[in-house]
Amino acid sequence: MKPATSSLALVSDGAIKKDGGTVFGQIPKATWEQIAPPDRRNRIALGLNCLLIRNGQSCVLVDTGLGSKNPEQTKERFGLSRSSLLKNLRAMGLTSRDVSAVVLTHLHQDHSGGCTRLDRSGEAVPTFPNATYYIQRRSWEEATSPNERACEFYHPEDFLPLQERGLICLLDGNEEVAPGVRVRLTGGHCKGHQMVLVNHGGERVAFLGDLVPTYHHLNVGCIASTDTYPEDTLAIKKDLVAEAEGGGWLMVFCHGVETRAGYLEKRKGRINFRPVEFGGP
Ligand SMILES: [Zn+2]
Repeated sequence: MKPATSSLALVSDGAIKKDGGTVFGQIPKATWEQIAPPDRRNRIALGLNCLLIRNGQSCVLVDTGLGSKNPEQTKERFGLSRSSLLKNLRAMGLTSRDVSAVVLTHLHQDHSGGCTRLDRSGEAVPTFPNATYYIQRRSWEEATSPNERACEFYHPEDFLPLQERGLICLLDGNEEVAPGVRVRLTGGHCKGHQMVLVNHGGERVAFLGDLVPTYHHLNVGCIASTDTYPEDTLAIKKDLVAEAEGGGWLMVFCHGVETRAGYLEKRKGRINFRPVEFGGP
C-alpha cells in the first residue's frame, strides 16, 4: 500500500483572461458564451490553480501559475492582477524555502511562470531555491526548442535559471516523485504534458493540468485550439473520464474559476459531474 498524503490544498496564483474561442476550440461561441460570458475583448476568466501536497518533511507544489516577472504588456494582455502564489503560501504558514519539490504539468508560461522571480538586479532566479523541479524530458526538449506555433507559450527565463542551478530532475514517463504523489505522462495538450495523481487518505486526487483545464472540458469534444495533438487529447480524455468515474477520483482543474474540483458519478446510465468546494487560499 502506497503511503497516503497528510494534507492537500489548492493554492491560487490569481486569475487571467484568455480568448474564449481559443479555450473552447471548435465549440461555437453561441454555445460557450452561455456558460462563460466573455468580456468586451472576447476574453473569459480562468483561474491559475496550483496544488500543494504536504506529507511529513515533503512539501510538493504542482504548477506555479504565471508568476510575478511579467511586463505590463503581458499583464494587460492576460488581464492579470498581482501574482498571489507566495502570498497565499504565506497565509498557510509557508515560505518559498519550505517547498521541497515542484512538479510541472508542462512548461507553458501560465504553469511555469512562478518557477522563477526577478531578484533586485533584475535577474530571474528560482522562486523555490530548496526544491527539485520535476519535468518530463519531452516537455523540456520542446520548451527549449519550440517550433513557430509553440514558441509564444514558452519563456526561457521561467525555466533556464533552474537548470543553471542544477535544480531540475527530468522524468521519462510515469514515476512517484514523493510519497503518495505520482506523475503520469499524457501528452495531448503539448509534448511531455503530465498529470499528477495523489493518494490522499485512500482517496485518489487527480490534478489534470491542461488536459482538462476546466470542468467544461470534461465534455470530451471540448478541446482548446492550442492543444498540439487534439486527437490524442480526445482519446486520453475518454479513458480518463471512465477511470475517474470508476475510481471515484476527486478531479482538480488548473484553470477553474468558481468550480475548481469535483467528481464524476454514474446515474441511470449517464455520467454526471458533481462540483465540490476544494479549499485553500
Ligand atoms: Zn494552461
